[in-house]
Amino acid sequence: MGRDPRYDVLFEPVQIGPVIARNRFFQVPHCNGMGYRDPSAIAAVRGVKAEGGWAVVCTEEVEIHASTDFSPGIEGRLWNDADIPALARSVERIHAYGSLAGIELAHNAMHVSNLYSRIPPMGPSHLPVKGAGYDPVQARRMTRSDIRDLRRWHRHAVDRAIRAGFDLVYVYAGHGLGVPHHFLSRRYNHRNDEYGGSLQNRMRLLRELIEDTVDEAAGRAAVAVRITVDELRGDDGITRGEIEEVIGSLGELPDLWDFVPGSWADDSVTSRFSDEGHQEAWVKGLKQLTSKPVVGVGRFTSPDTMVRMVKQGILDFIGAARPSIADPFLPRKIEEGRLEDIRECIGCNICVSGDWTMTPIRCTQNPSMGEEWRRGWHPERMRPKSKDAKVLVVGAGPAGLEAAMSLGRRGHEVVLVEKTRRLGGRVAAESALPGLSAWRRVVDYREGQLAKLTNVEHYFESEMTADEILDYDFTHVAVATGSRWRADGVARHHTRPIPIDEDMRILTPDDLTGGVVPDGGRVVLYDDDHFYLGGVLAELLVSRGCEVTFITPAAVPSEWTANTLEQERIHRRLLTTGVRIQPHSAVTEVGADRVRMEHVLTGAFSDVPVDTVVFVTARLPSDALANELKTRRAEWADAGLRSVKAIGDCWAPATIAAAVWDGRRYGEEFHEDIDADDPLPREVTELSELRIS
Ligand code: ADP
Ligand code: SF4
Repeated sequence: MGRDPRYDVLFEPVQIGPVIARNRFFQVPHCNGMGYRDPSAIAAVRGVKAEGGWAVVCTEEVEIHASTDFSPGIEGRLWNDADIPALARSVERIHAYGSLAGIELAHNAMHVSNLYSRIPPMGPSHLPVKGAGYDPVQARRMTRSDIRDLRRWHRHAVDRAIRAGFDLVYVYAGHGLGVPHHFLSRRYNHRNDEYGGSLQNRMRLLRELIEDTVDEAAGRAAVAVRITVDELRGDDGITRGEIEEVIGSLGELPDLWDFVPGSWADDSVTSRFSDEGHQEAWVKGLKQLTSKPVVGVGRFTSPDTMVRMVKQGILDFIGAARPSIADPFLPRKIEEGRLEDIRECIGCNICVSGDWTMTPIRCTQNPSMGEEWRRGWHPERMRPKSKDAKVLVVGAGPAGLEAAMSLGRRGHEVVLVEKTRRLGGRVAAESALPGLSAWRRVVDYREGQLAKLTNVEHYFESEMTADEILDYDFTHVAVATGSRWRADGVARHHTRPIPIDEDMRILTPDDLTGGVVPDGGRVVLYDDDHFYLGGVLAELLVSRGCEVTFITPAAVPSEWTANTLEQERIHRRLLTTGVRIQPHSAVTEVGADRVRMEHVLTGAFSDVPVDTVVFVTARLPSDALANELKTRRAEWADAGLRSVKAIGDCWAPATIAAAVWDGRRYGEEFHEDIDADDPLPREVTELSELRIS
């Protein structure tokens, strides 16, 4: 089936200066936690995007010189010619599928601390560096000679990028990360020379970098500018009015404009805090100020919204980072009229956490993300089965769904059984919580795919027992029965149960997601989990009229969500909805009508009168079935059973992304000869092979 003519406009070619994009799908630069460390792995990621139909596929930001060293973050690097081959690998993979390769050249100036290169950072003014954390480092005010150096380094990087094969070269003035942003913003630019003061002066460096880039490229590559269109700080930062003037002055210089709001956290907002297309309000109207094509993002997964963006003259290119991560084949699926196969991004920002934790990018929806090179996984294809098997998958949470789908795609005969009346396990339950409705897509996608696989059957309301399993003729069983939240206070702070009076009402996330929610009253929510759930449940409790005290041993609520760019938003929401936050505190004892709380730094105790306690602490695997089957191994041969494996939370409680990944891994590695002692190729070890041979 071909594409719906309504979407034809998305497949029109678009000229970008000297090059032509074959359609309007544009994978904008995005970080990945691989960067300079894993060039083959990131090349495989980019190649899969090109294969999936993105006409332009860009790198993450690429440092142009040792004076912009993002460490400990792992971005791209183009400090000198020696970096060219690593980046050329990505170009080669992108070109292999006929797409254009873009590179986001960046000098991060006062955003970075240069912890690796040790070169004092520089920026428009003498100010502390503004990157994540409070590094005890200041950027020094750039002299005219520094500006000349910077322009020369940028030119050299442009030349190197073109020699690496890139077709599109960015000047990066976005997200508070690129140096032209720092010069544009009154917040950081306190200069009174020709680079400071008036807007024309503050945009001088941007103009010069664009002109240098156009000159250096000399028609060999297109030139793009990524720019913050509103710093979202009122008159203290870059305003929309200023950006209109900037585009009025510089609008015709580059070949393409890429518009972003504020900081990265303002741009890549999770679905909990923004809807699809939330950038529209900031970007609308800017395209009319230039004749050059414009790209912007918006977590776009709906082709109708994409068409509207183009037809209403808001964007020329449908930019995407996260939707292209969740589904590298999104353009092809639209083109082939397979909308129901689109694996829609859920807006959870687990992908972002790869960059923040400096580990290869992973995605909740697309478990192959980051595994293309080292494990050979593909977002759409799986190797066919090598021999027949009849597999029972018990439990239809994210792990069980993914395992059943993966095994089914490989051609195995699969039966998936679920004890409740719905598919989805914890995802189905959690997606009913405030702000998490988009997470339901994890289930929807897999449910839709399973319906297409005639070799996979599923049954609801079937709670499997070991006896039943041993009665049927399955050769293999994957047990994906999930986990349960603890109700005894055990997690990180307390590693043993705390005293709890039996007259106190104790609830866990399983109770709340199962519909047992107190109607009003005083609630202590003790969060020693530190991810999203504590904050979400606090919101739920407030919405039910409860007076909530949020107690956490961490310095801030939902501390780990800094890695998903959400912590400040969550914190603000708790504060503004009246939740009382007790940081650095642990519940040590629960009485009949109060909890005892200890300040984890001072050891001071205090009592909080309360009606209900909610523990968001740790989980235990629901592995009774798996354990029983294993202890009855002697009966397997008669039953024709050859293997039993616990997967997902039943094996080790973790994130939804980890459960999906484990389901995929089960499906991928089933009947394959994987050397468990040496499971992970690493790029750096290629060096030792060279040496040995
Ligand atoms: P995971 O994240 O590992 O996929 P979940 O907790 O989300 O785990 O899902 C586990 C699923 O397994 C739930 O839907 C639960 O109802 C189901 N389940 C648990 N025990 C059984 C059983 N004995 N038979 C069938 N389904 C089960
Ligand atoms: Fe979307 Fe979450 Fe995947 Fe990121 S990790 S691409 S936000 S589904």
